[in-house]
Amino acid sequence: MPLTADNCPDPQLMAILRKELRRQRFKLEMIASENFVSEAVLRIGASVFTNKYSEGYPGNRYYGGCENADELESLCQARVRKIFGCEHVNVQPHCGSSANMAAFFSVLQPGDAILGMSLAHGGHLTHGAPVSFSGRLFKTEFYGVREDTELIDYDELAAKAEAGRPKMIIAGGSAYPRVIDFDKFREVADRAKAFLMVDMAHFAGLVAAGLFPSPIPKADIVTTTTHKTLRGPRGGLILCRKSLAKLIDDQIFPGVQGGPLMHVVAAKAAALGEALEPEFIDYQRQVVKNAQRLAVNLIDAGFRLVSGGTDTHLILVDLRSKNLTGACAEKALDQAGITANKNAVPFDRQNYAITSGLRLGTAALTTRGFKEEDMDKVAEFIVEALRHHGEDGRLNKIRQRVEEFTQAFPLYPNLEF
Ligand SMILES: *Cc1c(COP(=O)(O)O)cnc(C)c1O
Repeated sequence: MPLTADNCPDPQLMAILRKELRRQRFKLEMIASENFVSEAVLRIGASVFTNKYSEGYPGNRYYGGCENADELESLCQARVRKIFGCEHVNVQPHCGSSANMAAFFSVLQPGDAILGMSLAHGGHLTHGAPVSFSGRLFKTEFYGVREDTELIDYDELAAKAEAGRPKMIIAGGSAYPRVIDFDKFREVADRAKAFLMVDMAHFAGLVAAGLFPSPIPKADIVTTTTHKTLRGPRGGLILCRKSLAKLIDDQIFPGVQGGPLMHVVAAKAAALGEALEPEFIDYQRQVVKNAQRLAVNLIDAGFRLVSGGTDTHLILVDLRSKNLTGACAEKALDQAGITANKNAVPFDRQNYAITSGLRLGTAALTTRGFKEEDMDKVAEFIVEALRHHGEDGRLNKIRQRVEEFTQAFPLYPNLEF
């Protein structure tokens, strides 16, 4: 049942929800880590399971009344195993960061060495950045990309693994647009006698659809978020071999979390059900096609893309030759009705609050039904907005055109606030 002015007793809150729905409907959502869940996932996520405590795991809970929670969590687990072909999964992580924390704690002790991808080259905060728990608790080393190809420097990875003897090597990141060679990572990890963890948060949907190499057979532990390309509710998952199952489960609960969010587990199960449908593969194919079409358009307009393009849903635009900062680009796009984020490019000289790059993703727009020719139009809006950054009048005009354009792609048509 939709929330309306009649059945929601909190008009102040309703006004905020209504504004957010409008924002999502009338702007172009290009943040690479975002997506739009289906209306079914949205509704299931708002179910009565929000009321239930179910600390523990199916068949072994600390509270009574968990028979339905057991059935729900088992179903969610079975769907993950079916999609990714893993032996074990923990579906309880509240987010990608807590999934990573539990994964680390399962096999590492504070003070152990980890080797992750540098944040400045496309890695993630939780892979050892000093401001994250991971950087505070572990001895960190980083590998990055080569300056000439902007692809992962596997020689550097091997050398650092050899020299630093990390106990865990982490692959995956948030702003790396290319496929990752998991065989190579496995080889390096084996030689260093390190655990290999793959954080597939960004490309999990592509892995589910068979469009990105699967890390599951290669890694000891795979973590992911559920809300990026996988198109589920906000949350995380940890996939692993049977031999690590207990260590992982004990670190999610009671290690780093309390009771699971069973309404979110229900929404995860719903999204995973959708990921098992053949249309999901078509969707993911379109996501990549759209990103590649956007890339071609931007290159034709004179922009340089990190690594020259993309194999995935995301592209990273290097603005250095345009005398434009990431912060300035983000602001211009926002004024033009396009939501994206500034992002460091490899070997960036600007600080992280300014940056020289712009990260763009196509997962959300593709969910709205955007095809390649629509990406041509989106590219036009982007290029025009970047050329006219700082010109409020011009940017406002673009925003009006964007608003009009989005109306051909209805978002949650049955939803009203
Ligand atoms: C998004 C992301 C995370 C963190 O996810 P949250 O749910 O925001 O905690 C972890 N790792 C990678 C690679 C990510 O892209």
